[in-house]
Amino acid sequence: MGSLTVEEARERARLLDVTGYQVELDLDRGAQVFGSVTRIAFDCREPGAATFLDVRAVELGSVMLNGRELDPTTCVDGRLPLLDLAASNVVQVEATMAYRHDGEGLHRATDPADGNDYVYAMTFLDAAPTVFACFDQPDLKAPYEVQVRVPQDWSVLGNGAAKQVGPGEWALERTQPLATYFVTVCAGPWVSVRAEHRGIDLGWHARASVAAELREQVDELLEVTRDGLDYFERLFGIDYPFGPSYDQVLVPEFNAGAMENPGCVTYSEHALHRGAATLAQRRGRANTILHEMAHMWFGDLVTMRWWDDLWLNESFAEYMAHRAQEAIGRFEGAWAEFGISRKAWGYAAERRPSTHPVAANPAPDAASALQNFDGISYAKGACVLRQLIAYVDDGPFIAGVRDHLHDHAHGNADLADFLDAVGAASGLDLRSWAQAWLRSAGRDELAVEIETRQDEKTGEMIREARLWRTPPMGEWGELAADRPHALDIAGFTDGQQVWRIDVRALGDETLLPGLTGRPAPALVLPNAADLTWADVRLDAASAVHLPRQLPPLHDPLARVVTWVALADAVVQGATPPDLYLETLVAALPTERDSGVVAMLGRVAGSLATSYFADEQGARTRIARAGHLLLERLGDAQAADATEGVEAAERASLRLAALRIVASATDDVALLRTWLAGEGAADGLGADRDFGWLCLTALARLGAAGETQIEERLAADSSLDGHLAALAARAAIPTAAAKAQAWDVLVGRPEGGGASNSERLHTGLSFWRCPDLDLVRPYVPRYAQELPELAGVLGEYALGRVAEAAFPHAVTEAHTAEVIEAALQRPDLAAAVRRSFADGLADLRYALVSRSRY
Ligand SMILES: [Zn+2]
Repeated sequence: MGSLTVEEARERARLLDVTGYQVELDLDRGAQVFGSVTRIAFDCREPGAATFLDVRAVELGSVMLNGRELDPTTCVDGRLPLLDLAASNVVQVEATMAYRHDGEGLHRATDPADGNDYVYAMTFLDAAPTVFACFDQPDLKAPYEVQVRVPQDWSVLGNGAAKQVGPGEWALERTQPLATYFVTVCAGPWVSVRAEHRGIDLGWHARASVAAELREQVDELLEVTRDGLDYFERLFGIDYPFGPSYDQVLVPEFNAGAMENPGCVTYSEHALHRGAATLAQRRGRANTILHEMAHMWFGDLVTMRWWDDLWLNESFAEYMAHRAQEAIGRFEGAWAEFGISRKAWGYAAERRPSTHPVAANPAPDAASALQNFDGISYAKGACVLRQLIAYVDDGPFIAGVRDHLHDHAHGNADLADFLDAVGAASGLDLRSWAQAWLRSAGRDELAVEIETRQDEKTGEMIREARLWRTPPMGEWGELAADRPHALDIAGFTDGQQVWRIDVRALGDETLLPGLTGRPAPALVLPNAADLTWADVRLDAASAVHLPRQLPPLHDPLARVVTWVALADAVVQGATPPDLYLETLVAALPTERDSGVVAMLGRVAGSLATSYFADEQGARTRIARAGHLLLERLGDAQAADATEGVEAAERASLRLAALRIVASATDDVALLRTWLAGEGAADGLGADRDFGWLCLTALARLGAAGETQIEERLAADSSLDGHLAALAARAAIPTAAAKAQAWDVLVGRPEGGGASNSERLHTGLSFWRCPDLDLVRPYVPRYAQELPELAGVLGEYALGRVAEAAFPHAVTEAHTAEVIEAALQRPDLAAAVRRSFADGLADLRYALVSRSRY
């Protein structure tokens, strides 16, 4: 399928000025197809010239250009030529389009709980032409008037405020100019909760079968929404640009966390908690709400000109969401969460072959832009913005942002415009800064070297200290990066901060005279406040002391930086994986943030999968760390560790610890007790997700099977229950169960087979198996059959499934050989190639570590 190239987009933007869209969708034609009529008014700067329209229909009906009929068979590969344009034109396209089941285009899902169907449009990144005919590129913005026909018991939501105009007939208010990839319509028998905030109509919407959860949680969702609107309007000095309505819709089987459609944000409905949720989960959800809201200004009001600046949208929203969260103060620990989860994600991306500079990645066509949409775009980009703020100061930065938003409102802009605005506001020339931070890939390694002397009275003192910055080898080509870092360095002994200094590192070697004569601490931590983006290397003495030095350390950011540096060193083979587990057992019980606990459990779990020959032995140690945290929380005497921790956070820590133990333990009796909501899991008996976690663990251990899964499914017939049952089935360690799961994962029966979510849940659960002989034969099948899903799944969904289903559990040289051979295939979809290459790199790291330790 051809993808729009940047040259084609530039030419079309030069030629056309699109003045308005009218779209009519008929969603009352059954479960397979829908009707789509589009009328586009546009001007052409060169009358007589030709262009083309993007449309991907099942059947193209009549096509009219300026009153004359065009031959629909001239539409080839999604492009309909429009010849001999007038100065002002109207094109009208009638088409029959197909619903999709991969979370892209117009996705249709059936709720197994009540049989209701729901439909939503996800037109990002280039799926709009599968919903309506359009000039599909980000810089041809235009206002939309949308009408939708639906079954009579449905309601409709979209970018413009929705109004019912007849039985089953809905009209959306004319919008501000929108890029095609923002256009959405959500239809179905939604339950809706509405409110108002300073003249903005707020709505939260979800499937009918989760009405109870929505009503229970909606107050918090609305409060975060109101806080966010107030904060961003104040910060940017511009009112919410897409009023009067701001709808937020929780939709099923969504590929991303959320999508910032102006006026109508769509969220993965996992944002709605089905059972007990930790404070960190609620904090994460608030963060997503604020992230999408930040896009209303940056991304939606001012939109990138071409996809190569997609990163700036995401970096900006990522940074702004955390900033807003800290300012609003509803949940603590926004930046700690950023460090342990988002930065760790980006750091992992930097270790892989698919890493790339933050900016200036050529996106020769729309599809290739998607390949750069990763932890670099989000987390590294946000860190780079924090470095930019450290460089220019916050006042000028915000002044530049305001100017930028104001100058390009309802239009498009690019990175150069943004840097010009911040440069003008700060009076600084940002070219060399941008060159260093934005146009090179990889992380600098930062390490502190300390020479000490023994003092009779005061003990070991620092004689000389320096910070070493080692840029990555120049394998990314043309430019060796010379990144200036703003950071701090802190020293800790037994949890006490001995000293802390701010540093501007402008070269590879920075002397630290401020430390001379100060005491030598047990733990020296570069980047202690987690401000910069770097591969933080702990010196050998600090690393060895971690099991003793980390538990008493209370500074949350310093803890996070230490955990991430330790995991980084283990993954890269510089530190024995055993030290991670030893530190985990010692220090997890002293964690105070449930989000950090959850991430540590996840990291330890993935290390157990790949880095330990005795996987269950490693998991037993992880479970022990979880048990120790539970004990500590239950032990009123151990006030030292949990002193000052609020009751809600204690409950959150407890829940996070229970989840860690449940997914790591091989104690069947314990899992059965917890599944019944007894013992330490007292009170979680009705928690469906925790129940599925325990049952999947039991299934994996061969202690539960189809009967128990069916029983549980009968009590939880929801969509999530259905997906959890697939994961539980995929975990059963029998040849028959694995064969069935495999069919779900890669099957392509008539009609397309499993949905994106069904494949994803199966893939995540498939490989972890107490008997690797059962799954080993599937390694070559993965390499052979997964690429064949291209075309069944859209590129985005395909990449996610390929990554989730990568056979990390079979950490063997043979697996690497099989994937390597598969990479030679010339016909791999870009998303599959990337997942294979990255998975292979991860696998090789694990193999090196295993051979070393
Ligand atoms: Zn975003």
